[in-house]
Amino acid sequence: MEHLDSIILGSGPAGYTAAIYMGRAGFRPVIYEGLQPGGQLTTTTIIENFPGFPEGIDANELMTRMRQQAETFGAEIRPLIAVKADLNAAPYRFTFDDGSEVEADSVIIATGATAKYLGLADEEKYKGEGVSACATCDGFFYRKKTVAVVGGGDTACEEAEYLSTLASKVYLIVRKPFLRASDIMQKRVKSNPKIEILFETNTVGLFGNQGVEGAHVVYRKGETDERQYDIAIDGFFLAIGHQPNSNLFLPWLKTDEQGYIITEGKTPRTVIPGVFAAGDVADSHYQQAITAAASGCQAGMEATNYLRSLRENG
Ligand code: NDP
Repeated sequence: MEHLDSIILGSGPAGYTAAIYMGRAGFRPVIYEGLQPGGQLTTTTIIENFPGFPEGIDANELMTRMRQQAETFGAEIRPLIAVKADLNAAPYRFTFDDGSEVEADSVIIATGATAKYLGLADEEKYKGEGVSACATCDGFFYRKKTVAVVGGGDTACEEAEYLSTLASKVYLIVRKPFLRASDIMQKRVKSNPKIEILFETNTVGLFGNQGVEGAHVVYRKGETDERQYDIAIDGFFLAIGHQPNSNLFLPWLKTDEQGYIITEGKTPRTVIPGVFAAGDVADSHYQQAITAAASGCQAGMEATNYLRSLRENG
């Protein structure tokens, strides 16, 4: 079995930043790209809140630059997904989707998080035929059409804004009587004439003979003025938060009730020595490119110290 001193699982801002720090400290970490090369940012458009880019930067370009920077400092990037882990004892063992196996002295888990769905049978039925969790990936197909975005957070507002540049009308379906998004995003969606916000509304089904043609929605479910009605839409976009990609590690690591990895205090250390968690997989709250990069930096520094002390102690 191949033995490596350090591996990084995931290729978002956390994974690349960890690699940059380890590379500059003289290590040559191997990054396993995982399910979504470049991470979740690659499904968005312009990043306006990553410091250093006053005009904003295309998200894919930002990730390409991070990747190049990691490679400049010696990281090797493998286009593989970890399918099995064994963290019982160091060195820690992993199997990848091509059947290859490695053991590593230190591991940085930066596997991120994946978009959630409502859990309706119709979401499965119409997946790829009108149902999507990525407006930037699929918005193009809805030029001059009507779409709905579900959710009231920053992601939902950003997706609604983005889709309004393509579609003729966007419904924003929000289950509460208010948005949870930041003030600036709330202002943008509320003042956008193409966006209609349906507060206190839940989706209970989708219909259509050739892909999605509409949604069954309920206003104020369970209240005396409950009302069920249909809206005609061509596309249905989910933006209701994320599920951390931590399943592989659940037998060994501490997680919260949603599955986010719990680390020691403000550090990226997990309960297993030499195993660190960084980025969205360990952050249910901030979930920003910049916070992911910052925790990747911490994980890279911790892994470097850990490997140095391993070497010093024989
Ligand atoms: P959030 O958890 O902030 O919001 C999720 C939204 O989906 C909430 O409105 C929630 O409703 C709703 N929701 C959850 N489950 C359901 C359900 N079953 N049915 C209907 N609605 C549901 O997730 P986001 O992905 O929007 O954001 C995550 C983090 O990333 C946040 O901290 C956000 O600020 C940040 N972010 C920042 C951006 C930026 O700064 N540019 C861009 C995108 C995200 P309820 O309020 O009722 O719980």
